[in-house]
Amino acid sequence: MSSPNYTIPKTQKAAIVPSVGGKLEIVEDHPVKQPKDLLPGECLVKLECTGVCHTDLHAAKNDWPVPAKTPLIGGHEGVGIVVAVGEHTQDSPVKLGDRVGIKWLAYSCLDCEPCRKGLEQVCYHGKYSGFTVDGTFSQYVVSWVSHVTPIPEGIDSTEAASILCAGITVYRAIKYSNTKIGDWIVLPGAGGGLGHLAVQYAAAMGLRVLAIDTGNEKRDLCLKLGAEKWIDFKETKNLVEDVKAATDGFGPHSAVITAANSEAFEEAIDYLRPGGSLMVVGLPGHGKLAADIFFTVTKSISILGSYVGNRQDAREALDIAARGKVKCYYVVKPLSALQETYEGLAKGTVVGRVVLNMQD
Ligand code: NAD
Ligand code: ZN
Repeated sequence: MSSPNYTIPKTQKAAIVPSVGGKLEIVEDHPVKQPKDLLPGECLVKLECTGVCHTDLHAAKNDWPVPAKTPLIGGHEGVGIVVAVGEHTQDSPVKLGDRVGIKWLAYSCLDCEPCRKGLEQVCYHGKYSGFTVDGTFSQYVVSWVSHVTPIPEGIDSTEAASILCAGITVYRAIKYSNTKIGDWIVLPGAGGGLGHLAVQYAAAMGLRVLAIDTGNEKRDLCLKLGAEKWIDFKETKNLVEDVKAATDGFGPHSAVITAANSEAFEEAIDYLRPGGSLMVVGLPGHGKLAADIFFTVTKSISILGSYVGNRQDAREALDIAARGKVKCYYVVKPLSALQETYEGLAKGTVVGRVVLNMQD
């Protein structure tokens, strides 16, 4: 089913990682899957823009114990228009012309035990945008009608893009961090893509935010977005003491850690308040959590992992952003800036997010 209003080109611009850990290439002639070739349940989305997540860099560099598909088109924070739906698709929740988002979880079976329990993101048959299936660093992407996310009115596509991974992820992590209004939350990684949104979701939930990252630009951003306190991890002489001092002397009730390296996780058990929770969100390559067993037990610390979010988390995180409670801080660049964006993420110089204009 394809509308006469949409002319689907045969080829498109795309950024491709040709082989495991290979060098990124921008090509102009990557084939576009044509409407007649879409399977039932699939849809073709013409992308307006996409955010660049540190996960895309991990995938391109082959950082993790599980490799990405290759050749790989990365990207999983895309916003665009549904321009075709596979023939014989039944009960599609979206139609031609709808503005939708592409998130990390591209597909889940909705029938296995994790899916039935609402943990779609760990579906036994899950497909992941920009990892196990091609993602949003191309002008057209194939996705699934059951999993694309309707974008509410009242939010620009460039604003919405990074809510689709960074926003959903931190929204869910904070939601399940066992915190309540008035509690202290510490956010190592607060000046990055996930972290700067975490500052705002946490503040919107009535939590008191201690932001940790480095550099004046990230400090100013975090304080402007609602953090009460700030620690520069490169300047502190004693992180544990400084974190405790900043949080009434007892430490935070929760640490939601979105840094992309293992060092940021090392001292969390020491600075958390008794009964506190450690929410593991950042995905450093081959990282290990070295939690002291004695203090984990005697302080009754909960260690939890949080992985993106399900379709409901996506709707909730976007709704909060569309109502203006959370705003992504970003700069827009062309797809040709993807390599320099990866270099910036590796060096820690990207403040907030970079969003790519896919029709540029
Ligand atoms: P980013 O590079 O934009 O942000 C990371 C931030 O951490 C940077 O601002 C950096 O300066 C800061 N940082 C580095 N070392 C630190 C330290 N020791 N203490 C405090 N801050 C420190 O990256 P991002 O796009 O926000 O992604 C962050 C991580 O989260 C990546 O590993 C990514 O793969 C992961 N991620 C996880 C999920 C999930 O579902 N759990 C989803 C998306 C991304
Ligand atoms: Zn991501």
